[in-house]
Amino acid sequence: MKVKLTIDGKEIATSHGNTILMAARRAGIEIPTLCYHPRLPASGACRVCVVEIEGRAALGASCAIPVADDMVVQTRSPRVLEARKLAIELLLASGDHNCLTCQANGACGLQERAYELGIETLAFAVQSPGYPKDNSNKMIERDLNKCILCGRCVRACNDVQVNEVLHIGHRGGKAKIVTAFDRSYGDSQCVFCGECVALCPTGALTEAGAKFQGRPWDLKKVRTTCAYCGTGCQLDLNVHKGRVVKVTSDYHHGVPNFGSLCTKGRFAYDFIHHADRLTTPLIREKGALREVGWDEALERVAGQFSEIKAKHGPHALAVLASARCTNEENYLLQKFTRGVLGTNNIDHCARL
Ligand code: SF4
Ligand code: SF4
Ligand code: SF4
Repeated sequence: MKVKLTIDGKEIATSHGNTILMAARRAGIEIPTLCYHPRLPASGACRVCVVEIEGRAALGASCAIPVADDMVVQTRSPRVLEARKLAIELLLASGDHNCLTCQANGACGLQERAYELGIETLAFAVQSPGYPKDNSNKMIERDLNKCILCGRCVRACNDVQVNEVLHIGHRGGKAKIVTAFDRSYGDSQCVFCGECVALCPTGALTEAGAKFQGRPWDLKKVRTTCAYCGTGCQLDLNVHKGRVVKVTSDYHHGVPNFGSLCTKGRFAYDFIHHADRLTTPLIREKGALREVGWDEALERVAGQFSEIKAKHGPHALAVLASARCTNEENYLLQKFTRGVLGTNNIDHCARL
């Protein structure tokens, strides 16, 4: 069922159940947001997406208000812009926002909104909460002095990953994001999936290993498929000066993971440049390993397969495939096992 409304003078027909924000964006009208994310239930917490709706006294959060027939909406009226500016000014005053060395500099929702609204000077005196940084683990650095209480991390943890580690604790001016008993991430039930980091719009939650390894605009994103299992999660390797310095994910990459990753996919990338990593094949001879080229290694393997097959028959051979390979690689391996080795002795580690 279609609903007809007017946004910024433009007549729009949209599906029943859409919010004003969805209808506007689909019609090419940009409404800025901070606490909204398409993957999360709307909360209307940050008040940045407010709009003026004819006939209503108060401004409304467009991310949370469904469209209705004959609605007339203004997204950039002077009253709306003033309210947005005030919301950002209050957020800037309620934390320590030193963009100079912040990991989020250049990729921060708060910074972007302040820039769009032309906020050059602080309207209110800064009241730093004075929270100590949480450096309790090697994966996530948490600096709640940069937290704007948008609640995206809480919804990411509870509604997307269903880990239920984060909550909004305390009330009023003392409100803060907490784990159970307000412990550090390292001492909490956190499984370090990093969903909260991926969806935090500011520098409050960042990848600890990427600190001072390159600014967002220095990093080249290389989209790839995670190699840790066969699910095929899409991720971006962030490369700086030839080194992978962090892994990020993007909701817009779509299936199968819509930006979610597990702790291995998001944080276990240090093997890539590890000094102990094997880079050439090794053949064991008389108890010692010798570095060889690929031709020699493959000839040795093929020769020994043939020898075993000739002496004991094809069923003396068995192959174990790996969940760390892609579906295509596993398909090829079973083809090789059945078609070349001549045995159906093929299994997969996921069944063990
Ligand atoms: S969180 Fe954003 S606004 Fe705050 S210091 Fe970092 S870049 Fe600046
Ligand atoms: S890393 Fe994952 S489990 Fe830990 S707090 Fe963030 S979303 Fe929750
Ligand atoms: S930590 Fe980040 S995502 Fe969580 S409430 Fe603060 S600013 Fe929002």
